[in-house]
Order: sequence, then structure tokens, then C-alpha cells
Amino acid sequence: MNERDYDVVVVGSGAGGGTVAQALAPMVADGLRVALFEKGPRLRDDEFTGREIEMASALYEDGGGFLTADGTLTLALGSAYGGSTVVYTGTSLTAPERVIRGWGVPGLDHADVVARSRRYADENNVHLLPDDEINDNNRLFVEGCRGAGYAAEQFPINVKGCLGSSLCNLGCPNAAKQGTNRVQLPRAEALGVEVVTRAEVLRVEERALVVRVHDEPQGAKGLPSEWAPGDYRVRARIVVLAAGAVGTPALLLRSALPGLPARVGEGFTCHPAHILVAEHAREITNDVGHPKSYYLDRAEDEGFILETCMYFPFTTAKNLVGFGEAHSRFMNAFRRLQMILVLACDHATPGNRVAIDRDGRAVVHYRFTPDVVRSLVRATRASARIFFAAGAVRVHAPSADPPCLEVSDAARIDERVSERHFLPGRTSVSAAHPMGGCGMGRDAGDSVTDAWGRVHGLPWLRIADASLFPDSLEINPYLSIMALADRVAEAVRAEATR
Ligand SMILES: Cc1cc2nc3c(=O)[nH]c(=O)nc-3n(C[C@H](O)[C@H](O)[C@H](O)COP(=O)(O)OP(=O)(O)OC[C@H]3O[C@@H](n4cnc5c(N)ncnc54)[C@H](O)[C@@H]3O)c2cc1C
Repeated sequence: MNERDYDVVVVGSGAGGGTVAQALAPMVADGLRVALFEKGPRLRDDEFTGREIEMASALYEDGGGFLTADGTLTLALGSAYGGSTVVYTGTSLTAPERVIRGWGVPGLDHADVVARSRRYADENNVHLLPDDEINDNNRLFVEGCRGAGYAAEQFPINVKGCLGSSLCNLGCPNAAKQGTNRVQLPRAEALGVEVVTRAEVLRVEERALVVRVHDEPQGAKGLPSEWAPGDYRVRARIVVLAAGAVGTPALLLRSALPGLPARVGEGFTCHPAHILVAEHAREITNDVGHPKSYYLDRAEDEGFILETCMYFPFTTAKNLVGFGEAHSRFMNAFRRLQMILVLACDHATPGNRVAIDRDGRAVVHYRFTPDVVRSLVRATRASARIFFAAGAVRVHAPSADPPCLEVSDAARIDERVSERHFLPGRTSVSAAHPMGGCGMGRDAGDSVTDAWGRVHGLPWLRIADASLFPDSLEINPYLSIMALADRVAEAVRAEATR
């Protein structure tokens, strides 16, 4: 096995890993040796074609459809230079005060998370889109919310030179979205952090990683790895894991380090979500323009969030319940479709966790609790009201039977949409906000790390990604992940200079 030595090694290059790499980079000039290992590929700009089938398999784990153990939920996990920030939409919100307080992590306060989030928001060019860049799909949401008695809020977005391709979730073809692949990682590399792609960390050992560098598969997108293919043992004084809320717990579980806190893998949440579509009588601009400009936050009162969205034909088709004529009718109306993404604010629940199979691969156990089902149904009812108030003539509602509401149903939405029609496995539910699995807290009895990401009992090991959340964030998470990762990097800097 090849041997390498560093001071600090980071695993994963997404919101967490990219942040840590950049924050440590200035110390490289003083002699600190830092390497980051990312199992996904590094794509050239011209490889971002926006084609659904190509990009999904190039940028996502399992093409974007990583299935949970019982097959009722898929997880969208980005896997590339930049992690999920390559495929995220770039909506940039800060953590709600009540959520951070509710986590009750000693030493973590909301003001600190907000201050650090603001720094990354500035760095990522977060701003509100001007009115003339808002498309009909988003305008109709605002109008519908108003008509239904809700107040939509505008999402701050982190784009620079957005051309409105609406293809954010397939990797921006115009390099406009400010993910870690565009901002933090290039800066870290310019200052001397070594980023190694196609480098899968197989396991963590005491102050070391075992890394397998893969060959470029034939015909696949992306550059070859920076290192020669093969297995490496990489020693380091400090190890930082940022492989995401599925990747980090799975890596720790298969490493079976002596003294690892028992709660690794527990507390997994993900904001389970599904798409609702509604048909208008006229064509609207939906797949041109930024797809996600507005949202409605009902997290505190009703346990859900609604967000505008516009998905591509394949993703839309797989999300519609039904077959044959009823299904193709909606798909044929694509140019007339308005879309809303409904997200439930789930909570850490015993049994919902990341585990590994016999071969050490991640397995996610996730059951919809009655509260989550209630939230999704309430969200669907609210969305149906919003769609009709915006002038839609037909609404596709998976938790109705049949799953289609006509205008004549508008007065009896609560009766038509109900929990008894929400059948796990029948309704296509997916999640793009995996969180938890290595939660922060007081000690090994209630958590995996302290408030600075240090693993209880293993002082050389830190975690710096979404797995740190002790419970769901109840809002889009990337800026808060960056804020927590920034704290971890600060602690690593202090330790590295000792
Ligand atoms: C389609 C989509 C849209 C989203 N939109 C938004 C949005 O608009 N706003 C928002 O706030 N959030 C959004 N998110 C969520 C956000 O992108 C994630 O919460 C965030 O990127 C998670 O950061 P992370 O560092 O925990 O993990 P990730 O960013 O997922 O990075 C983890 C990285 O670790 C790598 N890795 C895993 N295991 C290993 C291993 N063993 N060895 C080496 N590397 C490994 C993976 O390949 C991956 O690249 C979206 C996510 C998706 C998928």
C-alpha cells in the first residue's frame, strides 16, 4: 500500500468539506500540509450539459435515487468535486433561532451560527433576484399564496451571472451557481490544499485514512484522479470527516474505531419532500428562469415548508402518481404546469438511522412518522389552495384518491386530500437535505461530537458536515452547514498551531 503523510486530512468536498479546506488553506504557506479526498469526479465546465440522464448519473450517488431500506424514500446525494453544492439550487437561508435553541447543544449559540452564515452568504454572492428575473411559475406561487391567505417570502439565491437555464439540480451549465466547486475549493487549491478526486475513503484508522483512488470509468464524465489509481494509507495528526449525513456515519460504522460513541448513525432526518403539479389553461414560463425564488415557511405552525420548484421531465414523470392516460395528461401539459415542492419538518426519531450492510455500504432506515404524514398532507392541502387561487384548473395531489383535484373540488380539499391516501411506496417521496447521524451534544451518552465537531473520546477526529445536526433544521441547510464547518475549522486551526 502507498503511504502518505499530512497534518490535516478532510474527507468530502461539499458544503462542509469545501468550507474546512478553504479555512485551513492560509496555513499551508506556514507549512501545514492539508489534503482533501473526494470520491466523486471533477468535471470540466463543458461537461455540464444539463442533459438529465447524463448529469444525474455523473453527479449523484445512484443517479439521484439512493433508496432507503424499505424502498419508500429516495435520497438525492451529490457526489462530485463540490459534493451536493454542485447540484443544489442555491437558496441561502440562515438557521431559525428557535431550532438552534431547541437543539440544546452546550456551547453552540444562534448568534454565532448567524454571524458565520452571513460571512459565507457574502462570499457566495447571496442576493434577491430582481423582479424581472422572476418567472411565471414563481409569480403564480406568490399570487396564489396571497389569494389563499399566506405570505410568500423571497429566497436569497447564490448565483452570479445566472442565465435562467433552470437546470440547477443537474449542475449549472453556465457556472453561475456559487457552490464550493466554484468558490471555496478553487481558493483552497490556489493556496496549496491538495484535493484528490475519485478518492474513496474506505475506512478511518487511528490518525489515518485508508483511501482507494479509482480509475476513470470508460466513457464517464470527469477528469482522471490527481493521484495514480491504487490504495493509500494516509496518516494525519487531525482527521476531519465531511462525507455528508449518509457518508460520514457509514464511514465511521465500517471503520469500527475502538471508543466510537454508540450514537453514530442515530438521529437521521431529511425533510422528506414531494412535488405537486398543477395545470393551467395557458402556457406559463416554468422551465426558463431561476426555478426556486419563493417559499412559504409553515414549519413552526404546521410542520411544513413549501418551495417553488421546476423539475425536468423524467423527475416530474416519476413523481406523478398514476399510470396511462391520467399520467400522460399531466406530462403532455408540461408547458402549462406550475410546481410546488412540499417539505415536511421531520424530527430525530428512534429507528430512523444510518447503518451499514455486510459489505460496509450505507443503509438508511427511515419510516414516515404519523407527524410527517400529517405535515405532508397539510402541505398538500395548502398547496392545492394556492394552486387554485393562482388560477390552476387541475391539481395533481398524490394524497388524494384519485390523485387529481378539479376546480369543482376546490371547496372540499380537506375531504379529498387525506392521510389515509398517503401510502408510503405509492407516493413518490424524496429528500435532498440529509441531516444528523453524528449529532453534536454534551457527551457520548447523548451525541457523537461536541459543539466544535470533536468526536467524544477521539480527540484527533472531527466532523464538519450535515451529520452534526442533532435534529432537522426546518429550513434549507447549506449555509448552516458552512457555519458549523467554519467553527470546526477554527478549532482545527487552533489545534494545528499548538
Ligand atoms: C438537488 C439538491 C438541491 C438542494 N438545494 C439546496 C438549496 O437550494 N439550499 C440549501 O441550503 N441546500 C440545498 N441542498 C442541500 C445541500 O446541498 C446539502 O445539505 C449540503 O451540500 C450538504 O453538505 P455536506 O458537506 O454535509 O455533504 P455533501 O455536500 O453532500 O458532500 C459530501 C461529499 O462527500 C463525498 N463522500 C462521501 N463518502 C465519501 C468517502 N467515503 N470518501 C470520499 N468522499 C466521500 C461525497 O461524494 C460528497 O461529494 C440541496 C441538495 C440537493 C441534492
